[in-house]
Amino acid sequence: VETITIATVRGTSHIMVGERWQDLLRHIPARRPVVITDVNVDALYPLNVICEDVITIGSGERLQTLDTIRDVYQRLMALEVDRSCFLVGIGGGVVCDITGFVATTFLRGLRFGFIATTLLAQVDAAIGGKNGVNMDGFKNMIGTFNPPEFVICDTNLLQTLPVREVQNGFAEIIKHAAIADAALFAFLEQHHQSARALDDEVIAKLVVDSVRIKSSIVTADETENGLRRILNFGHTLGHALERTAGLAHGEAVSRGMAAAAALSVRRGMLADNERQRLQTLLEAFQLPVALETGDAEKICRALRQDKKREGRRIHFVWLEKIGKAVVKPIALRELEELIHDISRRASS
Ligand code: ADP
Ligand code: ZN
Repeated sequence: VETITIATVRGTSHIMVGERWQDLLRHIPARRPVVITDVNVDALYPLNVICEDVITIGSGERLQTLDTIRDVYQRLMALEVDRSCFLVGIGGGVVCDITGFVATTFLRGLRFGFIATTLLAQVDAAIGGKNGVNMDGFKNMIGTFNPPEFVICDTNLLQTLPVREVQNGFAEIIKHAAIADAALFAFLEQHHQSARALDDEVIAKLVVDSVRIKSSIVTADETENGLRRILNFGHTLGHALERTAGLAHGEAVSRGMAAAAALSVRRGMLADNERQRLQTLLEAFQLPVALETGDAEKICRALRQDKKREGRRIHFVWLEKIGKAVVKPIALRELEELIHDISRRASS
């Protein structure tokens, strides 16, 4: 078990990679545990061996809303949960987000931790202390910053994960390597086959490295004013595609990263062979990279509607080389022109 400790002003998280879910109780103080999970995880794993009180929600991001939060509050009240209880979210990003939000607000705050059961949650969603729910189709409009006391990343749990969900995790791992770790990027280039076969040693290394990268970025910038923005690499365009084209998160981010790299080349910030390396790696992981007909228009429309946009400029994440991203603002109009430009070149 490798433990990475993230200390922030809001509290300390211990991320344990390789710990088994069955050993949860070792990490919970002598308090009554209450588990929040989703129907799929509940059906696959006998969680009642570690906890009597299991609250189950439906699965999928569609359920990441205030209605689900209200349901969970009601279940907690029915279970007579008090401030001495300890909440444990066992699931992917959706379960972790809901558990974090509920634990922060119910009775003005309960202690909580996670068992992350998806690759995406292990390398990204469960790390950093953000939680939230969606509102009217917009992501994470409501939420808080509050870190879990621990995250157990049991890589054995990934064996039951559908391939498409595994892909979501690989997209974020490649993102971490591209923005901050050239050595990890080279490792991925060498070991993509064993990674995709979920070789335990390779996956454990990828999770540990990803957690280190993300945690060092979020500790350096706890409230997302500066550095943390580089974690949005591929996401400004990716989110736009995800909402309009119905793609999985990883597929959208993969296309977003390929496009952001192409934009970086167009602006003279990135050498084309570095862009090509990123594209080749994404393709080796069977992630999509091409913008399709109509995507440019969809992206631009979504960018104009982006609720989190500050005025006419966008803080865009550019790639300077493999292992280094920078954030520089660009006028929305200029960005739109560039997007149309790269999509014209791609299709000609
Ligand atoms: P993410 O971590 O991708 O944000 P979700 O919480 O939406 O994800 O989980 C993705 C899907 O995978 C959900 O349908 C969830 O029920 C399912 N799931 C989560 N963990 C596992 C697992 N270990 N094995 C199989 N399915 C899982
Ligand atoms: Zn993401």
